[in-house]
Amino acid sequence: MPECGLCERTVAKTTRHHLIPKNRKESDTVDLCEPCHRQVHATFTHHELRYYYDTLERLKKSEEMRKFVRWLRKTNHSKVKVRDSKRVRDWRG
Ligand SMILES: [Zn+2]
Ligand SMILES: [Zn+2]
Repeated sequence: MPECGLCERTVAKTTRHHLIPKNRKESDTVDLCEPCHRQVHATFTHHELRYYYDTLERLKKSEEMRKFVRWLRKTNHSKVKVRDSKRVRDWRG
């Protein structure tokens, strides 16, 4: 069974995250469980992902994801409801 790159849980299925959105051809990818993947996109704008959070290490170290991963490991959900951050909502307009 695959392991999530962020929370490091073993899950039934991972989804592929492109570290540089909108540049899918050249972008490296990481495999994330669905909750982590949704949370990444709910927390960061494409701009932030592209210009800063373009490595797994940086995503892992961010305060937002650390909090989320701590919670996720405890609850061990396979599906979560995520709430877009204000930054992401503003970005989407
Ligand atoms: Zn995960
Ligand atoms: Zn993604």
